[in-house]
Amino acid sequence: MAGGAARELEAILDAAVDPIIACGPEELILHVNAATERLLGWDREQLVGRPITDLFPPRLHHFHGLSLPRYLLSRRKALGGRPTRVFARRRDGVEIQVEVTVGATGLDGDERIVFTLRRMHEVIDSLEEPVEHVPGGPGAASHQETVDRLYRLLVENAPLGIFHFDRNPVITACNDRFSGFIGTSKRNLVGLNLLTLRDERIMTCVRESLAGHPCDYEGDYHSLTTSKVIPVRIRFAPCYSEDGTVEGGVGIVEDITDRRRVEAEREENLAQLDLLVRSAPVGIGFLDTNLRYVRVNETLARINRIPAEDHPGRTLPELLGEPGSIAEQGPRYVLRTGEPLVDQESVSDEDLGVPGPRRCFRGSFYPVRTPDGRVLGVGVLIEDITERRRAEEERAHLYREAREAVRVRDDFLSIASHELKTPLTPLSLRLATLERRLERGENLDPGVLRHARHQLTRLTGLINDLLDASRIEAGRLALHPESTRLDLLVEQTLAGMEGQKGNHTFDFERPKEPVSVHGDTFRLEQVISNLLENALKYSPDGGTIRVRLSLTDDVAVLSVTDPGIGIPEDQQQQLFDRYFRARNASTRSYGGLGLGLYISRDIVERHGGRIWVESVPGRGSTFYVALPTLASVRPALPQVWPDRHLH
Ligand code: ADP
Repeated sequence: MAGGAARELEAILDAAVDPIIACGPEELILHVNAATERLLGWDREQLVGRPITDLFPPRLHHFHGLSLPRYLLSRRKALGGRPTRVFARRRDGVEIQVEVTVGATGLDGDERIVFTLRRMHEVIDSLEEPVEHVPGGPGAASHQETVDRLYRLLVENAPLGIFHFDRNPVITACNDRFSGFIGTSKRNLVGLNLLTLRDERIMTCVRESLAGHPCDYEGDYHSLTTSKVIPVRIRFAPCYSEDGTVEGGVGIVEDITDRRRVEAEREENLAQLDLLVRSAPVGIGFLDTNLRYVRVNETLARINRIPAEDHPGRTLPELLGEPGSIAEQGPRYVLRTGEPLVDQESVSDEDLGVPGPRRCFRGSFYPVRTPDGRVLGVGVLIEDITERRRAEEERAHLYREAREAVRVRDDFLSIASHELKTPLTPLSLRLATLERRLERGENLDPGVLRHARHQLTRLTGLINDLLDASRIEAGRLALHPESTRLDLLVEQTLAGMEGQKGNHTFDFERPKEPVSVHGDTFRLEQVISNLLENALKYSPDGGTIRVRLSLTDDVAVLSVTDPGIGIPEDQQQQLFDRYFRARNASTRSYGGLGLGLYISRDIVERHGGRIWVESVPGRGSTFYVALPTLASVRPALPQVWPDRHLH
């Protein structure tokens, strides 16, 4: 063939899409086009002159005693131009499936056998027999072929997408599942260079696997054909040829949509749970089996007064010292017994020995188990019940007070009515006597008049006490302070009471020098009279009432001691409360409204002084009044509404 015609033929053959190979009668290769070079990975110079059988696996070299080309030629008529599927062998040894049609031109020495190949787009494609090439004839499948078929079945039925790529890296084979993922046919996929995916991370994995290192890819696959985005995980692994070199790689593709969804759901659940735990108004913590904190929420961190991040890995004693050892007893019990401890009240800072304002907690501890019952640690729930406890105590206190107030009111009403009525009966009797005598023109008995007056004075005293008590309550008891000789005031008061002292004796001791205070003379006298009257009243058998006035630079102290019934110690503090009458004084035996000492305390304290009692039941009592002297700093005595007294 002339050189020009040969080049033209070569150009025409190169323009053909399908690989075309021509060989002579000896079955040595004469021509190869560019498509063949691409498909099989050879340069044409390397192929020319080689036996055509080099392009096929050794097991296909002979059929029924014929060489492959001869066999295919012999079958040609029977096939009627239809191609035969066989495996071809690339230069790197990889087998690829091709469709081949064979034709012949010329005869004898000029004979040219022309192979036209069409690349099948899968190697692992179907369960179809690779027919014609079976040594030993149809139906006599070799062991190798059975193994191949099994492999194919295995790959094809795998619930994962599987693809193989060569070193170029071109996809050489894939299963249906893979083409399903990608959304295109195997025909389009096989031969696709992975570079065209333009995914650097995938290419990194490809390079890694070609370098012999498995590599995982996880990402979203954006389908080339549909707009679908599929989250996938691809395991890239190297494929080794028989001589141990990496001939390519395999990718195993898993659709992780479900896994991602489950993970996302789990993450969302966890996030919700986390939020729930973090923002709970109850302290929540988890201790491992060594009673070390794994986690606590903000509330528990606040209760422990230690930042949440400082808790993990530390035990309660490590965090809180001695109080922590006490607090640890609950979780320790749970670990030992496997039983929960619920609503452990009265765990307070006080109980735990923590300084600072009193705080109260309620704690629950419970074993945290896996579904199979293994104890992972101890759950801790701590509730700060300080406020609740305080409110409860406050309520209980108010309730007690209310009950007490009701009792006091009822007592007072019965006492007051009794007290007010007591002088009225003799008074009205005496007035009736006087009236009778006047009618009869008889002389009036001064004794009857004196007694009547005495009853009136008693009544006036009771009513004055009631008025004073209500003024004190309203903050309207007025004082009119002036320089007052306390020693003289005591003397006068004692003298004024001569008439009512009965069998008692007054014994008064006073300093030689005058004792002056800045005070309301009338009110101070009221205090002194009250103490003296009580001394007389609560010493029913007579005896000496000792009255002492002593003086230091700053303070004048008046004491009144009686040998009377005394006062139980637990009631001494309350004597000065409104309406309070101690158990010592039965209403029947000792009249009174329980107001005298209450009024006295108010008067004394508003003079900047103090009143108190020392007493032994059955032996007597001493009441003390301490007042600042005139010489000391004058207390500012509040002036309030002027008031009127019944005298
Ligand atoms: P009253 O004497 O009218 O009951 P007071 O306020 O003067 O009211 O006294 C309150 C209570 O203190 C009395 O009810 C009595 O129980 C007790 N008390 C006061 N003084 C004495 C005293 N000298 N000895 C024993 N008890 C006293």
